[in-house]
Amino acid sequence: MKGETISWTGKKTVVLGMGRSGQAAAEWLLAQKAEVTVFDESKRGGMKELARRWEGRGVRSVFGAETLPATRFDHAILSPGIDPRRPVVVQLRSAKVPMFGELELGARACLCPIVAVTGTNGKSTTAELLAAVFQAAGKKAVACGNLGQPLCEVAPVSGGLDYAVAEVSSFQLETIVTFRPRVAVYLNLTADHLDRYADMKEYGAAKNRMFENQTSEDVAVVQKGLALPKLAARTVTFSATDASADYVLRDGWLCAGTDRVIRQEETKLPGPHNAENLLATLAVADAEKISREAVKQAFASYRPLPHRCEVVAVRGGVTWINDSKATNLDAMERAVLGVPGPVILIAGGKDKGFDFGPSLAHLRGRVRAALLIGETAEKIEKAWREGVPCRRVGMLEEAVKRAAALASPGETVLLSPGCSSYDQFKNFEERGETYRQCVKALPQEEKQHHER
Ligand code: ADP
Repeated sequence: MKGETISWTGKKTVVLGMGRSGQAAAEWLLAQKAEVTVFDESKRGGMKELARRWEGRGVRSVFGAETLPATRFDHAILSPGIDPRRPVVVQLRSAKVPMFGELELGARACLCPIVAVTGTNGKSTTAELLAAVFQAAGKKAVACGNLGQPLCEVAPVSGGLDYAVAEVSSFQLETIVTFRPRVAVYLNLTADHLDRYADMKEYGAAKNRMFENQTSEDVAVVQKGLALPKLAARTVTFSATDASADYVLRDGWLCAGTDRVIRQEETKLPGPHNAENLLATLAVADAEKISREAVKQAFASYRPLPHRCEVVAVRGGVTWINDSKATNLDAMERAVLGVPGPVILIAGGKDKGFDFGPSLAHLRGRVRAALLIGETAEKIEKAWREGVPCRRVGMLEEAVKRAAALASPGETVLLSPGCSSYDQFKNFEERGETYRQCVKALPQEEKQHHER
């Protein structure tokens, strides 16, 4: 039943998916003396070692199989990475085994208020900014969830915290039941994960679930213009472009209504997209009665995370930017728009079902050349070649070399793939680090073989 307290002692539970959050869920359940089984379809190298480790602790492991052996389970925890259409999920659902995700499990155990952040882009930046603002005000706060520490890892220490700032993805929101953040931030909704969702409506519906258990005592901070169902929470809006929002960017100032709080220039987060991350954070801070002094201090000192429009080198007048975290087209377009001069864009990666054509309108006249890597290179070339000179180069290493030969002083080489990395890399971090290393390894005289 919704909201029912669960006693986990002796409960036969299965944790589906042994990524970071699945492991945290299994740990937490074990600490509650549940009878735990861990499951993962993968047969990858490290999995055997992982199975051995769990078995050494009295946990049954089922790895490298598509379904579970016939056993009665009282409960299942589903990892966000597992598509609910997978056979194991179908198997458990048809056996009517109650199931929810690690976020729900962690939130039930969390003793401090939760501020949740969702949206297609900007979640990690905003969650970190919020934690920084709370900390500047002398509060104990951690950024967690989808970014770094899963909530199940934070829950055991949450008694000593003032806030858990949880970054939550649409996949995690699909498997909530009672999850009720005190403040819920919804940054934006643009095309992503269309390999998992039937359409944008289904993707948006998953995100909207963040508000479903909120009441009038809670706060929703939402981007102005988002199509949302009627929300029970007190709703506050923000926008970098719509002056009718409650929190707005006006003449370079981040404003709460008519109140000018801080100039965006004073922060290290440029561009209208970052203005929205800052405005959403300011709105939460006001809702939680955090002093403006603390906000200003945190905004001025916060340094952006790596792989998000990060300048990795300026050499011979050419700026090299690593935006490997741009795994969808909105993030890529915003990165291009944020560069003042001509751009040599490195894009491409795993296909998530995007239509690349509409991006061309943002790239035309700004992108002097597009160097295309990975699985989607051909698809992108077909979509862009009428407006942008495209070249398929296969690997990132080759793209960096080509970019070095192409770029002139005053230009920017931007890795902003608009696709995820899994076709060629372990994750976006590995892709970004590879880029950084390749740029570092370029000979100083990279303009020797200059071609245009
Ligand atoms: P997330 O955790 O949602 O993936 P990040 O803060 O890690 O968000 O940023 C991911 C990518 O999106 C980066 O390329 C970044 O430059 C871009 N980005 C950050 N904030 C926004 C925003 N509000 N709107 C659009 N793009 C953004």
